[in-house]
Amino acid sequence: MTHPCFDAVIAGGGPAGLAAAIALLERRLSVFILRPPAVHPTPRAEMLPPAAEPIIARLGIADVLEQAVALHPALGLWPTAQPEVLGHASAQQRTAISIDRYALITLMERRVKEKGGHFHPHRLRGIAGAPGNWLVATGDGQVVRARFAVDATGRPAHLARRLGAQLCLGATLVARTFFLPATPWPQLVIEATANGWWYALPMQQGGTAGFVSEADTLPEKPALLPIPGGFPPRAKTWDARNSRLSPCAGPGWLAAGDAAAAFDPVASQGLFNALSGGFFAGNAAADALAGEHHAFIVYADLVARTAVRTHRATPHHYATARGQSGFWHRRRAQAFSAQSERPTPSPFSEQGLVFQANFN
Ligand SMILES: Cc1cc2nc3c(=O)[nH]c(=O)nc-3n(C[C@H](O)[C@H](O)[C@H](O)COP(=O)(O)OP(=O)(O)OC[C@H]3O[C@@H](n4cnc5c(N)ncnc54)[C@H](O)[C@@H]3O)c2cc1C
Repeated sequence: MTHPCFDAVIAGGGPAGLAAAIALLERRLSVFILRPPAVHPTPRAEMLPPAAEPIIARLGIADVLEQAVALHPALGLWPTAQPEVLGHASAQQRTAISIDRYALITLMERRVKEKGGHFHPHRLRGIAGAPGNWLVATGDGQVVRARFAVDATGRPAHLARRLGAQLCLGATLVARTFFLPATPWPQLVIEATANGWWYALPMQQGGTAGFVSEADTLPEKPALLPIPGGFPPRAKTWDARNSRLSPCAGPGWLAAGDAAAAFDPVASQGLFNALSGGFFAGNAAADALAGEHHAFIVYADLVARTAVRTHRATPHHYATARGQSGFWHRRRAQAFSAQSERPTPSPFSEQGLVFQANFN
């Protein structure tokens, strides 16, 4: 059976996958992007530092800045478990921008379509074959052939784990987030509690709020943030652990963004990493396709160093808080565990090649 053939298949249509697609398309390579059908906007609450503006411009999506909100120094109720206002609401210096994710993804998808990228609204189901000649099965039962495979499926790293890579996970952490009709202050506000921390972030319309804690912790009512202690029914729960993939690249494939390394939201680095790392990943893939066989080694080395450096810094963020509860002590002493989450072999096969099961 003949299958449609592409230079690269990208699993995942978040910021990392779309940035990788833009880089590959700029190098005149054909790209097939697998991503589940569009869903409603979710309250992620993401900020970018001003240093992200060059990569936003490079990706051709500067219009997203029109929908962003400039944030002034954070109003920190942060460094002590007893709320204590730091920073100054009156300072004029802009320290970050709050990004509208829906606008970001819409602009990036438009850019990819303009450059000829091919979207397929289904999940990755399996991958088989060999570097240079992958066979990728999609959720609707199709199979495409690709010379290179990019895993941009976010934290679960669905594609790379099918190829044998392992996730190393930090201590359990979840973020429960929801939209706010209005935000109390025009900047990021963080409040530490005994078992976690609350934040509220303004957007152009309303804002988002979240509580970051260990998985089994009930929300505590913040003392100063005017947010109710419970979660509204439409709150969303996110895995917020540090994680890194080992290895994050190999012959004929690489992982980008959260799939390669994900960060505790305290680092506020994941989105910047997804945009810049995704663009770098697309270029590394293009180099590999042009015959530079060591391109993936250079890429993997840089991603691993960035991940290790950022993960090592996490306990220091928590150390700035003088909270004495178990939560704060545990966050200051984090270790990684290697976790093998490879899927079991699948009943689905094509031309004698066994695809591994979907475990989404
Ligand atoms: C609560 C919260 C707050 C955060 N705050 C910040 C912040 O302030 N600043 C910051 O920089 N970062 C922040 N982050 C991190 C940031 O959101 C992520 O780092 C960033 O979205 C990673 O982008 P990505 O493209 O790698 O992954 P994702 O955005 O997770 O995208 C993955 C894509 O893959 C798709 N997918 C999943 N499985 C499959 C499959 N099997 N087949 C095909 N497609 C699949 C998904 O649908 C999705 O489209 C925060 C994260 C959370 C959860």
